[in-house]
Amino acid sequence: MLGLMQDWPLLCHRIIDYAAEQHGNREVVSRSVEGPIHRTDYAEVRSRALRVAKALERDGIKLGDRVGTLAWNTWRHLEAWYGIMGVGAIYHTVNPRLFADQLVYIINHAEDRVMMTDLTFVPLLEKLQEQLKTVERYIVLTDGANMPETTLRGAIAYEDWIAGVDDDFAWKEFDENTAAGMCYTSGTTGHPKGVVYSHRSNVLHSMAVSTPNVLNLHTSDTILPVVPLFHANSWSLAFSAPMAGARLIMPGAKMDGESIYELLDSERVTFTAAVPTIWLMLLQHLEKSGNKLPHLKRVAIGGSACPRTIIEKFENDYGVHVMHAWGMTEMSPIGSTCAIKPEYAHLDGDARLDIQEMQGFAPFTVDMKISDDSGARVAWDGKTFGRLQVRGPSVARSYFKGEGGEILDEEGFFDTGDVATIDQYGYMRITDRSKDVIKSGGEWISSIDLENIAVGHPEVAEAAVIGIQHPKWDERPLLVVVRRPDCSPSKEDIISYMEGKIARWWMPDDVVFVDEIPHTATGKIQKMELRDRFKDYRLP
Ligand code: ADP
Repeated sequence: MLGLMQDWPLLCHRIIDYAAEQHGNREVVSRSVEGPIHRTDYAEVRSRALRVAKALERDGIKLGDRVGTLAWNTWRHLEAWYGIMGVGAIYHTVNPRLFADQLVYIINHAEDRVMMTDLTFVPLLEKLQEQLKTVERYIVLTDGANMPETTLRGAIAYEDWIAGVDDDFAWKEFDENTAAGMCYTSGTTGHPKGVVYSHRSNVLHSMAVSTPNVLNLHTSDTILPVVPLFHANSWSLAFSAPMAGARLIMPGAKMDGESIYELLDSERVTFTAAVPTIWLMLLQHLEKSGNKLPHLKRVAIGGSACPRTIIEKFENDYGVHVMHAWGMTEMSPIGSTCAIKPEYAHLDGDARLDIQEMQGFAPFTVDMKISDDSGARVAWDGKTFGRLQVRGPSVARSYFKGEGGEILDEEGFFDTGDVATIDQYGYMRITDRSKDVIKSGGEWISSIDLENIAVGHPEVAEAAVIGIQHPKWDERPLLVVVRRPDCSPSKEDIISYMEGKIARWWMPDDVVFVDEIPHTATGKIQKMELRDRFKDYRLP
């Protein structure tokens, strides 16, 4: 027997309908790419999203077509995002920090028919457009007054484009499993692969991560997603903030410490989210300026392991609660957050930081397992490393156009490529990417643990650990360090700082100093490039 409840497809544009109806005058504030602060609200965002949908339909965009965006977080990007989905097309948020050849590859691979771009990327697209065969026209996210002279095919200013239609448009109706959006993985090996979200997976993910154990969003929050829409759906916030009816602050193109501080302060932000690099910049700005964060209550940090010093400073110096989060593009993206369960509620000081340094536990909708090389599950004892695998309604089951073939095991789990431990209470700790883990004498050494300890040294700006071939042990760790400006710590200083904080046999065999560590488009350390650079390195 089937249940007798209504059929109400989980479609993403219902979220902006809901926000407009229940929280219609809640503000959406953006730092515009042109410069000034812009203010609108959910009711107007919805109305203009309807115009986007109508204009797309008029231009011949249909169910299943891909519409690319190369844009920062602003109100126009948000309107475009909902408008694209509401006509049944698929948003393809492109990461502008990718290399030109990767941009060309993914735009062609996605077969984007329209490209919406911020002013910032017009010169870049002008150079690439000859290679972007599928893009029929370019919409520049600005108004007529700021529209540059451009050679882009069919270029029009967004404001002029939507001025041609009204908002009398009915969202398209379709099955909730219809594709809603696409995001390509960074592709540290081979070509980037397309992850295709459905309306249902986006809605379920946003509902799951809005809950108190995860992002804990409320209508009284003011939310600043520093994490861009092109970085895996801004970790859900473009959906979950309107779903919560929260005030939304969009940072535009400026993500340096001072600009972020200005918005946190002037807009009285209560919750924000971004990768650790952003918070390093903010904390440096605060230290220099002596500014405080009286309004901010919570910060979600993920995308790469959050160094302990960041957690410590936010919590102890600024009274801001850190929620360490882990996830990946293939997971929509949030897979875990580190809320404090009753089992750990009695801890304080260093013991509490030890917990917060972990990536936390999975919400409902994410099943996790860790297994050894033979595929057998390993114990949840907080010590045993295993390959981390996940399944759930917001986890990818294959890539766009079947790239990479079958990606699930026989139980339907997706291999995250991460190595992790899980403790008896379900707290997961990432110890490495499976290809970065250092195999020494048959045992695994966590490069992330070593990096986190090394960056705790006050004169170290950034650290990366890679495995170097070793005749006896197979591999041994090499620590690569970028010093802080005007500091000159020696190898011995750093090694002695690390002593006692890790097992003796984990200690790096050598330390090298470099001016810069290479990063991927999403700000992660590019270990492949480092390994390449140090492939002939001889340990002492
Ligand atoms: P992107 O590069 O777009 O963030 P990816 O999906 O390529 O997304 O990256 C996901 C990977 O990032 C994870 O598999 C994991 O290795 C790493 N990662 C994300 N969050 C964390 C975290 N909190 N701690 C450690 N690693 C993390």
